[in-house]
Amino acid sequence: MSCYPANWQPAADELSGKTLLVTGAGDGIGRAVAIACAEHGAEVLLLGRTESKLEAVYDAIVATGAPEPGIIPTDLGRVNHDALCALASELSQSLPKLDGLIHNASILGDRKPIAQTSAALWHEVMQINLNASFMLTQTLLPLLTKAPAASVVFTSSGVGRVGRAYWGAYAVSKFATEGLMQVLADELAGTSQIRVNSLNPGAVNTAMRRMAYPGEQPSNNLSPEDLVDNWLFLMSDASANINGQALSAQA
Ligand code: NDP
Repeated sequence: MSCYPANWQPAADELSGKTLLVTGAGDGIGRAVAIACAEHGAEVLLLGRTESKLEAVYDAIVATGAPEPGIIPTDLGRVNHDALCALASELSQSLPKLDGLIHNASILGDRKPIAQTSAALWHEVMQINLNASFMLTQTLLPLLTKAPAASVVFTSSGVGRVGRAYWGAYAVSKFATEGLMQVLADELAGTSQIRVNSLNPGAVNTAMRRMAYPGEQPSNNLSPEDLVDNWLFLMSDASANINGQALSAQA
């Protein structure tokens, strides 16, 4: 199962002419999604914390002959609203529009009972997983509005839809992300061409998954590359009528 219809397949140039921004593009799911979007014709802006990882993704994209990506080294754990306003202003001087925004960067935080959760780590998880997504979306709305049919995707999780013990701030940040998605989708439905959805990737073999489930055999889970069509669909015009939905890549 996936979030796209059974008979849907991306055309080679499915995202041609689109400019997309992917957060957490240096590793894991974000890396695979950014490369796949570029391979299908998109100009991709790679936002992430570790510049060397973004440069490696840049090199991988350029090596395929895909449109040259942009690199935006940014620590979402430290960034504030003013800095993101400045980024949006800079982007609006070089881009006529932004067609897609994939909020993918997140941290797991501590897997501990709420009773033992450190307040500092709680705030850090909320800053990266939720507050940065809010601020980035808000500051980029004017550029998204200029696209004929822009798509915003928030990355969710199973524990952001059903609460589970010991998932702490991470789970709560994902519940809040679902709330942000619903409120924004409802607000924009009647007033813009921007659609807003959330996507739960399901179990994927990445560094985060291996940290969350150290006893698991990593190769039992799908790789990020196996699942990229879900994001390609949500960034493509084929999903133009989907708005306000909590979607799943594997369930
Ligand atoms: P990874 O840990 O493999 O990758 C996370 C990415 O986010 C990395 O590129 C990381 O950058 C970046 N990132 C983390 N903190 C910051 C920050 N402060 N500023 C900028 N970038 C940051 O995770 P996954 O690929 O597994 O997860 C991607 C998304 O999918 C997340 O939202 C996660 O919650 C969600 N998800 C994943 C599941 C899974 O099984 N893998 C299951 C359900 C949801 P760097 O490498 O430089 O630290």
